Amino acid sequence: MSTSLNLSNSGSLMSKTDYMRGWRERNRSHLLGYYRRYNSLHREQRHEYMRKYKRRPDVKARDKLRRDLNPEPQRERYKQYYQLKSEEIKARARERNRLLKVTVIGKYSPSLSCSRCGFSDMRALSIDHINGGGTRHHAIVGHGTVFYQWLQKNNCPEGFQVLCMNCQWIKRQERNENANVNGGGEKK
Ligand SMILES: [Zn+2]
Repeated sequence: MSTSLNLSNSGSLMSKTDYMRGWRERNRSHLLGYYRRYNSLHREQRHEYMRKYKRRPDVKARDKLRRDLNPEPQRERYKQYYQLKSEEIKARARERNRLLKVTVIGKYSPSLSCSRCGFSDMRALSIDHINGGGTRHHAIVGHGTVFYQWLQKNNCPEGFQVLCMNCQWIKRQERNENANVNGGGEKK
């Protein structure tokens, strides 16, 4: 119990901060109106500021920690959002996955066609492991969209080509790769 503590706690020597706090409490409704007006007039600036703020590394880390410690509110909010917008969300995901596939296929085949027969319907085109080992590789990195994501993340490495499903099957027959679809029968 020091003297200075007693002085700062006494009403007669109120600090500037305490005075301001008191003023804000007494003028709460006036301030709220002011903030509301300010916010509605500066909507775009505020959104821009928040977008930048939310991307700051320290803020991101803090928000992530908060979510990790207490994941329920976020999960609940997303569940409600998903129920409202599920069709839009699914459509967006389909479009995103389609674009990803076109991008990756285009890296391996700029003409977006099968490298053997030239077939060009995107729905039947896929990425082929030129030297085999596809089943084993897919078991590690995943299938479909996840596989395209892997290719993109790895800057579309060499050793892959675009084939249509027909040519995929013909190639498998030729290499006798479908003797064991679980991966054991594949040549490397
Ligand atoms: Zn083909």
